[in-house]
Amino acid sequence: EQAAKVIREHERRSQPEIVEFEAQQVLRAYHLPTPATTLARSSDEAVAAAEEIGYPVVLKIASPDISHKSDVGGVKVNLQDAGEVMAAFKDITARAQRMRREAYIAGCLVQEMAPAGVKEVIIGFKRDDQFGPMLMFGLGGIYVEIMKDIAFKLAPLSRRDAFEIVREIRSYMLLKGLKGEPPVNFAALEDIILTMSQLALDFPQVLEAEFNPVLVNNERAIVADVRMTLR
Ligand code: ADP
Ligand code: MG
Repeated sequence: EQAAKVIREHERRSQPEIVEFEAQQVLRAYHLPTPATTLARSSDEAVAAAEEIGYPVVLKIASPDISHKSDVGGVKVNLQDAGEVMAAFKDITARAQRMRREAYIAGCLVQEMAPAGVKEVIIGFKRDDQFGPMLMFGLGGIYVEIMKDIAFKLAPLSRRDAFEIVREIRSYMLLKGLKGEPPVNFAALEDIILTMSQLALDFPQVLEAEFNPVLVNNERAIVADVRMTLR
């Protein structure tokens, strides 16, 4: 099975951090929605990938040694044409290599850009030695740190638990929509939460996992970033 293979490979290489591109393969094995993503090794490959995916696109640093991509200026969103993609590729890779001299830089991920107006949430789990995997749901994006608006439940979650956890955070009203805005697709979020609960049970060697952000609107929810840590 594909998910097991990715995890086994990282264990074999003693590489506890599974970064976005590889972790996406685990997600796809679970039929979780991920944005179209291509690994580009050069700026020409990045442009070709962007033309294939369609503008606008997002470029992200691709390195097994860099799990917090924004920390090294490694994410650029809303790139509109070949010129912007080419410049972004050069800028991202050069800067990352300068900031992390020891890091192996594979290139950049070229990724489908989510439409405007999506909301960012976080879905994650952490394994507690005593209680087992603890699922987490919260508001994502720039508010995470200040708001600390997060709800927890022990895995395995029932459908009822998933229904409840998305309604337990204070920002539930934001997700429900303000001023005539339509509500986000709560069912899509609940599906992702239940799948993550299953993943936590299937792979005890995964210590923690974080989907951050999951981008959700009235229609759908996609996992726009993911990392996993093995024990
Ligand atoms: P990091 O490793 O820094 O967490 P992310 O992949 O989460 O990098 O990207 C940082 C931010 O860029 C996200 O929190 C989100 O706001 C935005 N972003 C990332 N991917 C996409 C995408 N496919 N579409 C739209 N916005 C995105
Ligand atoms: Mg992220």
